[in-house]
Amino acid sequence: MPAGQGRGRGGGMGKGGQRQGMGPPKECKCPGCGHTIPHQPGQPCANQACPKCGTNMVGI
Ligand SMILES: [Zn+2]
Repeated sequence: MPAGQGRGRGGGMGKGGQRQGMGPPKECKCPGCGHTIPHQPGQPCANQACPKCGTNMVGI
């Protein structure tokens, strides 16, 4: 479809999937098993391994 008409309302990026726009994640989630842990300030989620399965966590 032509890119002239579509994106009138809403604006911004994506469709509101992310919580509260930009900001540090409050929790880290394991992409492997879905386990979540509280995010520790100063420690990127990617640096933390899931206590259940050992996969690196991701921020959510
Ligand atoms: Zn896990």
